[in-house]
Formats: sequence, C-alpha cells, structure tokens
Amino acid sequence: MKKKSLFAFAITTVVVAAMASPAFAYTLLSPRRVWKTTPVTVRVYTAGNSTITDSDGGVTAVVGAIKAWGIISSSTTSSPAVRGTAPATITLNNNGHICTGSCLAATLTGYYHTEGSATYIDDADIYTNTRYDYTSSRESDGCSGEYDIDGIMTHEVGHVIGLGHTTVVGATMYPSVSACNFNNRTLEADDLAGKNDLY
Ligand SMILES: [Zn+2]
Repeated sequence: MKKKSLFAFAITTVVVAAMASPAFAYTLLSPRRVWKTTPVTVRVYTAGNSTITDSDGGVTAVVGAIKAWGIISSSTTSSPAVRGTAPATITLNNNGHICTGSCLAATLTGYYHTEGSATYIDDADIYTNTRYDYTSSRESDGCSGEYDIDGIMTHEVGHVIGLGHTTVVGATMYPSVSACNFNNRTLEADDLAGKNDLY
C-alpha cells in the first residue's frame, strides 16, 4: 500500500511540473526590484532614428507603443539621457556604447538601491544600435529587412520595469526578434504574468 501511494504522488508531481513549465517562464531581474511609484515615467529623446521614415524618426510611435504595459507614462523629451538619474530615457539614434554587434537595443538596468528589504529602481535608460534599419507603426512604406521599433522598445521597457527574459517563443520578453516581425507590440500572458508579479 505504501509503495502505491508514493507512486501515485510521484506521477502527480511530474504532471504538474510538465504543465507549469510552458505556461509561465518569465524571469525577473535579480535582485527583484520595482519602481517605487507607478506609473513609471519613460521619455523618448526627440532625436529620432534616421532609418525610420515616419514624421519624426519613430519618436511618436515609441511614445505610443510602450504604453502597452499599462503602468507607463510616456512622452517626448529634448533632454538627453542622464545615466543613473530618472526619468528612464529612450535614445533612438545612439548605441550608448552598450549595444553593438547583434544587439538591436539595450537597457541599462544597473541603477537601483535598497530600502530595508525592498529594492527600488532609480533609472533605466535605453539605447539603440544604429547599424540596423528600423520601421515603425507610423511608417507607410512597408517593411523589408527592417526591425520593428515599436516592438523592440516594448521589450526594452519590460526591462525598465524589472523583467528579465522568457523562454516562451512569441512573448514580448523573448530575447530575440527577426526583421519585419511585429508580434512584440502586443503583450502575451507570460509578459503580463511577469508584470503582475512585480506590480
Ligand atoms: Zn532583452
């Protein structure tokens, strides 16, 4: 009798583990950290990206796109990013010397402090690799070999609010994207579960 119950328990454990894995695979930045207050202010530097052929080099498109997270207050700014000092600022025309090679965009996640048992984010600026061509939701000339700036910045702002990468293909926090793929503009269940874990 004892052996049978143990066997049944073991089977149950295996099934639960197998189902849990594909459902949610988001990760949080380590140490776990959040902005002290929401909405989180994110500014887009007005010097746009010259490869984006909408009216302002993708600036207005990105201001709109990153609202997808629901806890973001976004607008443009003519002030360049100041590392370590809020607000989190998106720069579309400069790699900040942190995003080269196959990197499309990168977020500086190293600025945070602890208060008691809590850890709070102080700043998280985003830079863009200018060696690639980009397109936006406000471009009207189609897409050929370009990367979607709306989706890329929605991904990066996931890092701004404290998320790491996921193994769920198709989720916005998946670590890579191909040209002319626009799926990162919309958040998937895995992305939202990560956000709801933090906020
Ligand atoms: Zn990433």
